[in-house]
Amino acid sequence: MFSRRAGLACRAKLWPWLMAMALGAGVPAAAGPTARIPGFSGAEAMALLRYQCDLGPRIPGSPGNRALQDTLLAQAEQLGLEGRRGCFQAVSPLTGKAMPVCNVVITIGGVEEGPALWLGAHFDTRPICDHDPDPERRSLPLPGANDGASGVAVLWQIMNIAADTRPPRDVVLMFFDGEDSGRSGDPEGFCLGSAHLVEHWRDFGSLLPAERPRGMILLDMVGDADLGIPQEGYSLAHAPDWTAEVFGRAAVLGLPAFTQARGGAVYDDHIPFLRAGIPAVDLIDFDYPAWHTSADVPAACSPASLEQVGRLLVDLIYNP
Ligand SMILES: [Zn+2]
Repeated sequence: MFSRRAGLACRAKLWPWLMAMALGAGVPAAAGPTARIPGFSGAEAMALLRYQCDLGPRIPGSPGNRALQDTLLAQAEQLGLEGRRGCFQAVSPLTGKAMPVCNVVITIGGVEEGPALWLGAHFDTRPICDHDPDPERRSLPLPGANDGASGVAVLWQIMNIAADTRPPRDVVLMFFDGEDSGRSGDPEGFCLGSAHLVEHWRDFGSLLPAERPRGMILLDMVGDADLGIPQEGYSLAHAPDWTAEVFGRAAVLGLPAFTQARGGAVYDDHIPFLRAGIPAVDLIDFDYPAWHTSADVPAACSPASLEQVGRLLVDLIYNP
């Protein structure tokens, strides 16, 4: 069904475009400066998804992981935004070895006072494909097109848009590391970066203000070409009003991927925020056959899916 090689196919072709973007040579954000609510280009987000996959695995401590941190921070600086990396040492539940875990936080200052919107996604990828149907592939690193790159791609594109058209209120982008190195069946071994970030809030200083946000939105596995996002169980149970607001907005916008159905409960990076009493909603499509397999490649994802999620976030940001 999916091509294993698709993630590697266009590495060479993308580089000039991405280098031009990194150097500020001008791939404009989707909307013109006069638009009140900017557009969101799924095609541009898809290019950012492919870019991440072309870095190779983004396992904590790997060159691909570090390169992605560096690129996100360089892009923020290029756009005149404040960004910071917060690192700590953890022990990989999968290998028992020490691994560095580095969260990246980037803040986009709003033009008015008011509660900020916090957006998060994990950028690391799983070290193994333990659910692959082929036993010989289970020791391979996950390509992580949907499980990792999709949420980051949408937030990255939001960063590009918001730097061009300043949002009414502050928007904080949180890129979590160490989400996907846990052992199957032991949820506490996952989400190491987000848990640390919530516990060590002050490490990020002014980038993470003490005031409570309007809410936190987590993106995880939002690129599936066959996208369907139900209302995740923990979000519904612990942040029902915020979940209703976010999904209500999706309904107003007529975004077909978002359903009013109740989904399963997923242990994900929103859990540390919920435990801290912060309203958080996990936008996740867990019905993904390529989950934790070598088929989690860009060909399994689509620009149209990313665009629906991006349109929802842009509306929540610019139409608060
Ligand atoms: Zn995963």
